[in-house]
Amino acid sequence: MTDCVFCKIIAGEIPGTLVFQDGQVTAFRDLNPAAPTHILIVPNQHIASINSLADQDEALVGHLFTAARQIAAQEGIAEGGYRLIINTNAHAGQTVFHLHLHLLGGTPLKYPMG
Ligand code: AMP
Ligand code: ZN
Repeated sequence: MTDCVFCKIIAGEIPGTLVFQDGQVTAFRDLNPAAPTHILIVPNQHIASINSLADQDEALVGHLFTAARQIAAQEGIAEGGYRLIINTNAHAGQTVFHLHLHLLGGTPLKYPMG
């Protein structure tokens, strides 16, 4: 999508601090981090939200989680712990409509949510 900020980061058209990229997903640091480690993991293909997933995207969703596991290890937060969040639409506060998995860690995180 031409007007999508995450599509532009994936394509290298606007700057992003990439931490991982392969043929299916890209991961980059959140511009406004909510924790010492705050990384967004996104499909390279434009998918607006979880609501827009198709049945054939199951493997892609699995790959997002595999990337999250590898990046958490790479960032040194796997043992200490981390949180994965996906916001969907207004009630969850989704602001960028390109599916993304937030990976948060590096400090004890506040709980409960919601
Ligand atoms: P959400 O509220 O789940 O839609 O989260 C969107 C996230 O994208 C927020 O945490 C923003 O700080 C982050 N964000 C927005 N624009 C950029 C950008 N250009 N580069 C990195 N992160 C961004
Ligand atoms: Zn997009």
